[in-house]
Parts: sequence; C-alpha cells; structure tokens
Amino acid sequence: MKSRLGKVQTVIRRYRRASQLTVLALLIVSPFVNLFRFDLPSMSLYLFGTRLWVKHTFVFFMLLVTVIYVIIAASLLFGRVFCGWVCPQNLFNELTRSWDRRFGRAGSTLLSVVISLFGAFVVRSYFSDGRALLAQYLSGQVPPGPTVFILGFTLFFTMAMAWWRTSVCRVACPYGHLQSIISNADTMHLQVFNLPGNRDICATCGLCAEICHMGVDPRTPEQKHCVVCGDCLDACALVSGARKVPRVLNFTIGSGDSAVALRDRGRLWQNVRQLAPRLVLPLILTVILGSLSAYMLAHRPRVDLVVAKNHRQVLAAGSPISSGNVMAVSIINLGNEGDRFHLYVEGLPDNWAALERSEIELEPGERASVTLRVHPTERIVGTHRFTVRVVGERSGAEASFDTVHVVY
Ligand code: SF4
Ligand code: SF4
Repeated sequence: MKSRLGKVQTVIRRYRRASQLTVLALLIVSPFVNLFRFDLPSMSLYLFGTRLWVKHTFVFFMLLVTVIYVIIAASLLFGRVFCGWVCPQNLFNELTRSWDRRFGRAGSTLLSVVISLFGAFVVRSYFSDGRALLAQYLSGQVPPGPTVFILGFTLFFTMAMAWWRTSVCRVACPYGHLQSIISNADTMHLQVFNLPGNRDICATCGLCAEICHMGVDPRTPEQKHCVVCGDCLDACALVSGARKVPRVLNFTIGSGDSAVALRDRGRLWQNVRQLAPRLVLPLILTVILGSLSAYMLAHRPRVDLVVAKNHRQVLAAGSPISSGNVMAVSIINLGNEGDRFHLYVEGLPDNWAALERSEIELEPGERASVTLRVHPTERIVGTHRFTVRVVGERSGAEASFDTVHVVY
C-alpha cells in the first residue's frame, strides 16, 4: 500500500510547496523588517515599512476589507485554496505526517516543540520589537510577560502540530467553517469527469482517497474539508496513465451538463479561457479596492492638529487686553520619523494671536499641546475667522484647523 503511494509523482505539490514556503518565509521575516506588525507599546501598525496610527484606522479598515474580499472571492471561486496553498497550519499538517514516518512519533514531536518555540517567538514579535526581545534574552534577561506568552503559544503550537493537526482545520478554524457556508455548486470541486477518450470512468482503485491528508474521498460530493492541494489528481494521473486513459479525476467548475473540467498539464490557456468569465468581476473589484487602499495609504495625514476650548469671550469697551480667547492647540506626529513642527496663525489682525511656542519637536506618535491666546488689541465687533496651521520642517507634513473668535 505504501509503495503505491510512493509511486505517485506529486507534481502539483511542488508548486504548492513553493507557495507555502514563500508565505511562511514572509510571515517569519515580516515582523523583523516591519513589513507588517502591530507595535502595542506605541499603539501603531507597521505596514510595508511605514507606520499607521489610531488616527489612520480608516486606512487599515480599507485594507482589511480588500484582503477579506480577496479571500472570500477566491474561496467562492476555488474553494479552500487559502488553506492548501497559503496557511502554514496545513503545511505542517503534511510535514508532520512525513516526519512521523522518518523520525518516529517521538522525534516528530520533538521537532514540533522546537519549531513551535521559534513560531511563538515570531508571533510575539508581531506585537512588539522582536529584535529588542531577542537582545534581552541574549543578555541573560528573561522578561516575564513575553516569556509566559511564548511558552503558552509554544504549548498551543506543539499541540496543533503534534496532536490536533487536521482537526484544527476541520473543527476549530473559523475560516474552514466560513468556507462551508459560502461555497456553492459553482465553486471549484473535484469530480470524476469522463473526458473524451476515456474507455471507462473510474478504476475504483481508491488511491485518490488514500493519499488525501484531509480525509476526503474526492469521488464523493462531501468535499467541504478539501484544501485544493491536488495530491489526489496526481494519484489519479498515475492510475489513469497506467490504464492509458486521460486522468479521470479533475477539478471542475459548474455542475451537470454545464460543468467544465480544468486540466493542469499543458492546458493553461484553455483553463484561463474557461475561467475568464468568472474571474472578470472579482478582478475588477479587487483592482478597485486595492487602488482605493493604496491611495488612502499614500495620502493619509502625517500630522494631526486640533484646536479645542474655543471660549468665546466678550471684549467690552475699556476691557483689559488680557480678556480674550484661550485655546489648546493639540498636535500629533503621525509620520514615521521625528520632526520639528512650525505653528502659524493666519487670518487675525496683527498682534491678536500669541502662541505659547511657535515650533515643537515631536517623535513619531508623540502628542503635544500648545496654548494659543487671542488678545484683540482693539474692539472690532464681529466674527473673526482664522486658521491655525502646522508644517513639518523635514517631512513637509501639513495640517490646519479653522476656527473663530467673536467680539461683541
Ligand atoms: S480531496 Fe484531493 S485536493 Fe482535496 S484535500 Fe484531498 S487530496 Fe487534496
Ligand atoms: S485515483 Fe482515479 S481511478 Fe483511482 S479511484 Fe480515484 S478517481 Fe478512480
């Protein structure tokens, strides 16, 4: 039985492994090069090397909508393709099976513990600077909070890798359940499909079900746990090749007479043509959402300015100059780097406005408040509109706030 599986040429698996390992490498590297990570101490999010602050939640929301849309659209079209080609859990589901055979159960579990420990450290690095944490450990310090987190996650990952394995995907993963809800008859699925030239349909050898690490029998309609890995296709190719017929098991889209089979070898252009009508709308929407996200990311504010406590005061005839309007000008540096910000008041008569400070140095994410006093030097009755403006010396970031001072 083992030798039968050993003869299968897992061609599709090679491409899939390349995809899984690329994603895994990105996930490992990402928090250390600030490709993507949350920085809880400063309440910011690193994205492609740049920083988003709480004020930029709308940009993050737009990016999240885009990513969720792409995942759902891909799932609707191709099933659990994310599980089979992207998610590291599924990669380790497969690897641990082969480690069991190669190193025995104890060796496989030990390997799982080591990888889990490393994985837990990487996950912790998504929430604060991993390099600083590593430096702490290397200098002999053991920070209690991060250490408890890392040990807890090591235990969790070890359980997932060594014992739970595909149960995580079948039972616990919310995305797995989501897939069951959103898939429909037109979602790509596996079917024994009688192609021209086939003498027979299925040899009922069962190799496709045997090779499936998710416990699916692809000849049946019960395929909600199928992760589109393609191993069963390669298994069937072996059997069909020996029978000198085209592979009988295929990914198909649609059902009944309108179903079409997608062939994986030498028929790329034909597959693209068959899929094109279904791909056009999702691709257009992905481009629109992606462009909007990129635009919002590029044009997000780099500094924020708010003028608060606009106390309107009456300047009576003969009032002392000190009666006026006291305002708090609040500035936040929303950029990636520290900057010196210059403050200006525009639109008021000369000598009416006095800023506590006209420039201020702020680190990324730092907030400061500057007092602005409006002292009318003469009684000009009416509403005086004016603007408080801030300009970053190095970044050129700008923000302004329009407000009023009323003299009765
Ligand atoms: S049914 Fe086939 S494609 Fe689906 S998970 Fe099993 S082996 Fe992979
Ligand atoms: S591997 Fe192919 S021929 Fe064998 S049982 Fe599965 S579908 Fe039928």
